[in-house]
Amino acid sequence: MPLQIETDEHKALRAAVAALGAKYGRDYITRTVAEGRHPTELWNEAGKLGYLGVNLPEEYGGGGGGIAELSIVLEELGTAGSPLLMLVVSPAICGTVIARFGTEEQKRAWLPGLSDGTRLMAFGITEPDAGSNSHRITTTARRDPDTGDWLLTGRKVFISGVDMADAVLIVGRTEDARTGSLKPCLFIVPTDAEGFRKRPIDMELSAAEKQFELTLDDVRLPADALVGDEDAGLLQLFAGLNPERIMTAAFAIGMGRYALAKAIEYARERTVWKAPIGAHQAIAHPLAQAHIDLELARLMMQKAAHLYDAGDDIGAGEAANMAKYAAGEACVKAVDQAVHTLGGNGLTREFGLASLITAARVARIAPVSREMILNYVSHQTLGLPKSY
Ligand SMILES: Cc1cc2nc3c(=O)[nH]c(=O)nc-3n(C[C@H](O)[C@H](O)[C@H](O)COP(=O)(O)OP(=O)(O)OC[C@H]3O[C@@H](n4cnc5c(N)ncnc54)[C@H](O)[C@@H]3O)c2cc1C
Repeated sequence: MPLQIETDEHKALRAAVAALGAKYGRDYITRTVAEGRHPTELWNEAGKLGYLGVNLPEEYGGGGGGIAELSIVLEELGTAGSPLLMLVVSPAICGTVIARFGTEEQKRAWLPGLSDGTRLMAFGITEPDAGSNSHRITTTARRDPDTGDWLLTGRKVFISGVDMADAVLIVGRTEDARTGSLKPCLFIVPTDAEGFRKRPIDMELSAAEKQFELTLDDVRLPADALVGDEDAGLLQLFAGLNPERIMTAAFAIGMGRYALAKAIEYARERTVWKAPIGAHQAIAHPLAQAHIDLELARLMMQKAAHLYDAGDDIGAGEAANMAKYAAGEACVKAVDQAVHTLGGNGLTREFGLASLITAARVARIAPVSREMILNYVSHQTLGLPKSY
């Protein structure tokens, strides 16, 4: 049998999701953004077709696949111009963490809805004063000694899709009863809980998903709002962060492929001298480089997904970071070159590429910045000393 990077099932999934993406496309997203709506029709249809929960366990309504399958869904929707950012958060981070570490009740309460898209969960780790240094987060949970409830207080920033979400998986800290030190813990916080407030951040981003600043003011949560084990919070957190990185890579590769395809189409037709501009190597070579960079990033994303789905969290950690880095850089360059290829038209609303310049930068910053990945590889992989 010939060696295949992707199975026939994966190829079939790609083709099927690409067909759904083509039905909606960039115009649909542009319209929903202009109307200030969410991409509900696409989300619901993808949910009905089983694409939103491909990675979640079958016994809870999911497709029984892994992050390899979910990343294909996001990449292909993005390639069609209609990415769903909340796939990175709801099924990939929150679904994974609950499926792997949640109690039986949490799994039954959340996974079927996250799988078919009828329920949605956002994810909140970033804080205004901690930023990339998540060891500095101060959102703190303490127990009410009388009821056993949790009381959660803190602030979060840049949390995506809170207005679409039923709950937010919040990363907080609790005090270790023995040592008094603070340890990370994950809580499911309903968006209608008392003391939970959200404020939209005015982003210079043309996207259907908005970012929010959150204030949690003694939000009272039942004891079972804690996900999994109080003493294994860090392990659970990392289990969710690898899928987040792999999915951000998929988001970036999809956007890069979309922009590149637009540029190639234009470069084949547009003629200002004797031959189409795509015949000039100054236009053709950077597009060829962008294609190569996107293909290389995809290969690393597939490696990371493969390791993660095989249960190798440590191996997946390095590969997921590298994939996110490579995909973010490839996306930024592909979008930049696509805009340039269209000349003045690259900056018109009609051709719709200029807004991707800002959107592409998200993949360089979030969920972990380019520099923090270079730090990780410098220290963890290369064994170089730390400066911070
Ligand atoms: C569109 C969007 C959506 C997001 N969605 C979510 C979400 O749903 N949930 C969530 O929790 N967060 C979300 N985030 C937040 C995102 O994860 C953070 O923006 C990111 O982790 C960087 O943190 P920061 O913005 O505070 O930057 P900072 O940490 O302040 O960093 C600023 C700059 O300094 C650099 N820097 C910092 N430390 C070092 C160092 N040691 N060495 C070298 N350089 C360094 C960084 O690389 C960066 O370039 C989102 C962000 C965006 C833009």
